[in-house]
Order: sequence, then C-alpha cells, then structure tokens
Amino acid sequence: MLRRGPFFFFVFLSMQSTLLTTYSERLAETLPRVREQIARAEAAAGRGEGVVRLIAVTKSHPLECVEAALGAGLRDLGENRVEELEAKVRHFGADAATWHMIGHLQSRKARRAVAVADVVHSVDSLKLARKVSSAAMEGGGLVEVLVQVNTSGEESKSGFAVNSAFDEIAELSQLPGLRVNGLMTMAPFIDDEVVLANAFASLRRLSESLVSAINGFGAELSMGMTNDLDVAIREGSTMVRIGTALFGPRPGYTT
Ligand SMILES: *Cc1c(COP(=O)(O)O)cnc(C)c1O
Repeated sequence: MLRRGPFFFFVFLSMQSTLLTTYSERLAETLPRVREQIARAEAAAGRGEGVVRLIAVTKSHPLECVEAALGAGLRDLGENRVEELEAKVRHFGADAATWHMIGHLQSRKARRAVAVADVVHSVDSLKLARKVSSAAMEGGGLVEVLVQVNTSGEESKSGFAVNSAFDEIAELSQLPGLRVNGLMTMAPFIDDEVVLANAFASLRRLSESLVSAINGFGAELSMGMTNDLDVAIREGSTMVRIGTALFGPRPGYTT
C-alpha cells in the first residue's frame, strides 16, 4: 500500500483550495457578464429588470463549484441527478440554497428527490407526477413542481407532448400535495433563432391557457440555457438555467 506522508496531504489540500480559487475567479468574470446579458435581454423585451431568475446549474461540478457559487451570492442552484443533489445538500445543508432538480427523474427516485429538492422542474409524465404527489402526501407538505413539456418534438427530450399536454397537465394539477408553479422546457440544441423562438413561444401559449383555465396554476416559465437565454427571455422566460456560461465545460462528478 502507498504511504501517504505529510507532503501528500499538503499537495492534496492545496489542490482542493486551488479548485475553489479557480471556480471563484472564473465566477468573478462570468457572473457579472451573465447578469448583464440577462438584464439586456429583459430590457430589449420591454420586461422589468430582475424579472428573470438565474438558476446556476452546478451539475457535474464538484463541491468547490457550489462553494464558489454560494460565495458569489448565488442562491438558486440546479442539479440533474438525485445522488449528486443529495451529496451536495448533505454537505452544504438544505438552507444554504434553493435546490432545483432540473434533470429527468425516474419514478422510483421520486421520494428521494422530494426529500432534498425545493423545486422539481422535471415532472415529465403523469406517472412521475403521481409518485411525487404520494411522496408529498407522506411528507405532509406541498412539493413545488414545474411540468416539463417537450416543445421540440425531439425523441431524446422528455416531457409532455405540446399538442396533448393541456388535458394531461390539467389532470396532473389536481393531484394532492403538488404546487404547480408553472412549466419547463428544453429547446432543441441548435442556433436557429426562429426554431428556438417557436419552441419557447409554444410553452408560453400553453402556460397562458393553463393559467387562465386552472385556479392556482402558476405562471413560471423555466426556459433558457447558456446557448438560448436571449431568445428565451424575449419569449417570456421567468427562470433561466445556466451552467456553462458560469462555470465552463463540465468535468465528471462522482459521489
Ligand atoms: C445542464 C442543463 C442546463 C444548463 O445547460 P448549459 O448549457 O450548461 O447552460 C439547463 N437545464 C437542464 C435541464 C440541464 O440539464
């Protein structure tokens, strides 16, 4: 077995703090830029300053990334795997941030997700919604959710199909234990602004009809990522989920 002397631990510890410094230094550059980009998009769309909430997507980044994000004043953090979300919440505490579960969630992990997430953005089927609802009832509280809609029609994307979504989401919204804050979508990964705008606009129109038809249905629109946040804000986004523009390319992360 390898003997690890004091020098090893010195190098190990300074590597850890170097990583924190790297994330903090990067954020010092990127966060003001991203905030400015959001503000410019809000202004260009004639929307009030600060109406769009920034969710910092720390998925696949290590604990140092979350530490740097918290240090920079970010309080909405997004994760896409339950195990990783659990590890981060365990480390920093439930109250350190508003924890957003944004990735596809298997029904059998619904209970675990509900235990650690403040908001689940990715309720993408009635089956999952029922599991989240029962988990909420067991926990004796309300779980805040967004309903994911597949606005691109791409098979690789999860979510309710736009055309049949209204009736299913109306049914979902009546499940006990859920507070439906609104809708979420992922646009296709392309640069064509017209295609992106159409995807986001279809989510906004669906939201408008659900909000006017269903009492208590929330008007949040979680849409917009690094590559399409301007278009998303123009089309009415109220929450953008930004990873790469803040933290750079994602390394692997294992718990
Ligand atoms: C990874 C991810 C994001 C962030 O994507 P970036 O392009 O890195 O900004 C946003 N939303 C969801 C659902 C994601 O999985």
